[in-house]
Amino acid sequence: MAEITEKRHKAACSSRDYDFFYEGLEDQRLMVQHCSDCNTLRHPPEPMCPHCHSVHSGAREMAGTGTIYSYAVHYHPPLPGFEMPHPIGIVELDEGVRIVAGLDGMALDEIAIGVPVKAEYLRRGELATLRFRRA
Ligand SMILES: [Zn+2]
Repeated sequence: MAEITEKRHKAACSSRDYDFFYEGLEDQRLMVQHCSDCNTLRHPPEPMCPHCHSVHSGAREMAGTGTIYSYAVHYHPPLPGFEMPHPIGIVELDEGVRIVAGLDGMALDEIAIGVPVKAEYLRRGELATLRFRRA
């Protein structure tokens, strides 16, 4: 329990709903919330299932592979800790749920809708996070 609390404090963006996600990243695992009643995956985490309205949920590890569903390239203003331009993508994981993450491990001319990608785990300062690279 003490370890979980410490990891929560390291994850500056965390809240109770997100704790399992950031704790997974600390262990280089991509965890996604699922409904305990109908099994629907959902991200970002929510307190209630949008499909069956159950409030029971768990976390399931994803393979970390998928394809670029959409993306944008951020040019301005500068973001502290990031090189510009900074590409961000919506990745559709092979399990069927979509997640927003940086694509900054890829060259801009590699980034396109439908390109297969794989999660890469890294730290940005104190925060464990992920980005996607070409698979
Ligand atoms: Zn459900």
